Amino acid sequence: MNTVYTFVPSPNHVYPDHPERPGRFDVLTPRLKVFDAGLIEAKPATREEIAYIHHPKLISGVEKVCKEQAPAIIDYAPTYVTQSSFEDALLAAGGVLTCTRAVLSGEAKNAFALVRPPGHHAEPERAMGFCIFNNVAIAARDALANGMERVAIIDYDAHHGNGTQAAFLGEERVAFLSAHQWGIYPGAGWIEDAPQAKKRIVNVPLPAYAGDQVYEQVAEKIFVPFIASFKPQMILVSVGFDAHWSDPITLLGLSSAGYLMLAKKVMALAEEYCEGKIVFVLEGGYDPMNVANGVAATFAAATGKGQAEANDPSPNKEPDCEARIAEIRQWNGF
Ligand SMILES: [Zn+2]
Repeated sequence: MNTVYTFVPSPNHVYPDHPERPGRFDVLTPRLKVFDAGLIEAKPATREEIAYIHHPKLISGVEKVCKEQAPAIIDYAPTYVTQSSFEDALLAAGGVLTCTRAVLSGEAKNAFALVRPPGHHAEPERAMGFCIFNNVAIAARDALANGMERVAIIDYDAHHGNGTQAAFLGEERVAFLSAHQWGIYPGAGWIEDAPQAKKRIVNVPLPAYAGDQVYEQVAEKIFVPFIASFKPQMILVSVGFDAHWSDPITLLGLSSAGYLMLAKKVMALAEEYCEGKIVFVLEGGYDPMNVANGVAATFAAATGKGQAEANDPSPNKEPDCEARIAEIRQWNGF
């Protein structure tokens, strides 16, 4: 079995001077053919599938704004829409569904949904943070509808996955872990965000410049007990390449080798608990070079072939996060 991917670049979802732009894929696109992974065609999600997570009023509201007012700003982040954005967002969500179903059916061993607009900030009743519909959350619900009893989502985009957390606060069949820079957009994601769901909703707020060494400790001391206690049958990964040290809008410290390490760690957990069933879902990442190198590193882990091509270690000193990691373990009872 092979690794497959969907590619939804949404060239008409674009706004002047906005970092979430089609150009994010400029370095990646010509490299796609060198990865040992097969392209599968993304089918657009239906309104009913979007409604697994989102209120019908949000869905019809986004459609109406796109048709009648676009281009428009629909949230302070700012989140924008153009005339094509409703269809683009349906195809992005559908690209994740297509990957998830390919893995569930056994057609593929694992998958990577390379889609935009991203999704993890979108809450059930509102689009926010450059995100229109919550692609990964919709796919998790779809996996439950297709027979999975427990699905875990690990989010290592630089920002807190507030939308995914909101979607599953009361859903015992989905576990969510977000590791992110503390103190930046959207301002949520502190350790104690979800006291009613300790162990199942896990937040890992990190200080600026946390990089490869800190994330390796986070993977070993938090990802491992999180997955071991929940025992999911499938893992979805919200991967954002904005935790790279040279991302223009955040201040973390991962390198491309760090992204390879993280992808290998979550792959190993999927092998141990989920018969290898894992789908990577692109979220943010605003330097096109980092997106291309991060995708390459993730494909290297997913296919078991190749390695991180870029040698781009962070020039910044990492903070000591031992006490923070211990605090998170203690709060969650790991
Ligand atoms: Zn982000």
